[in-house]
Amino acid sequence: MKIYEKNQNLKILITAGPTYEPIDPVRFICNRSSGKQGVAIAKVFAEFGFEVNLVLGPISEELLNAISSKIKIYKVETAEEMLTECLKLIEKNNIDIAIFTAAVCDYRIKDVAKNKIKKQEYCPLKNIEFVENPDILKTVAAHKFRPKVVIGFVAETENLIKNAKKKLNEKNCDFVVANNVSRGEVFGEDYNKIFILDKTGDIEEYPLALKTEIADVVVQRALKEIL
Ligand code: C5P
Repeated sequence: MKIYEKNQNLKILITAGPTYEPIDPVRFICNRSSGKQGVAIAKVFAEFGFEVNLVLGPISEELLNAISSKIKIYKVETAEEMLTECLKLIEKNNIDIAIFTAAVCDYRIKDVAKNKIKKQEYCPLKNIEFVENPDILKTVAAHKFRPKVVIGFVAETENLIKNAKKKLNEKNCDFVVANNVSRGEVFGEDYNKIFILDKTGDIEEYPLALKTEIADVVVQRALKEIL
C-alpha cells in the first residue's frame, strides 16, 4: 500500500556503490559493494516522480545503463569526491530525504604515487600509510543544511544490532537499515535481509527479500518520517 501521493515535489539524495581509493595510477583499494541496493531505492523514489540525485561510486556498466534517465547521476570514485558532491547537493537543493547506502572506504592512501609502483627487493606496498576518510553520512547529518530525514545503512559481520544502535546514535540518523554480511550473501547478490532500527528504540526485522522489495520497504519507511 502506497502511503504517499505521487508527484509531490520531494528532493532525494542517495549515495551508492563502493569508493575507489588510488594507490598509484593503476592500483586502488575498494570493497565488494555492487551498488544494487542504492540503485533500487533510487528507482522507487523516481517512480514517485521525486527529484532523485544519485551520487554513485564505480559500478558495473550493466547496472549503470539500466538506471532511468529521470535519475540525476553524479559519478565519483573516491570518498572525498563523494563528500564534495553530497555537500554541493545539500547546500543548493534543500534535500528532504538522504539515504547513504554507499560502502565508503574508511581509509585512503596518504601519498598517492604519481607513477606505477615497481616491484622491488622489498615490497613497497608494505610501507603504505593510510589516512582516515571523512564520514559522509555523519558530516551531512551534522550540517546546517541537514536533510529532513537522514538514513544510514549498516553492514556487519558480528554484533549487528549492537553496532547498528551505536551508528544510529553516533551518526545522528533518523533510522538505520542493518544487514549481516558475514556469509557473503549480500554484496553483489539480489537478495538481502534487513532490520530497521529507529530513534525511538524500535527494531523491526524483515524476512529475506529481493533488494527491489527491500527498496520499497525503505522508501515507505522514509516517507513515513516526513508525513
Ligand atoms: O561506519 P560504517 O561504514 O559502518 O557506516 C555505515 C554508514 O555510514 C553507511 O550508511 C555508509 O554509507 C555511511 N558512511 C559514509 N561515509 C563513510 C563511512 C560510512 O557515508 N566514510
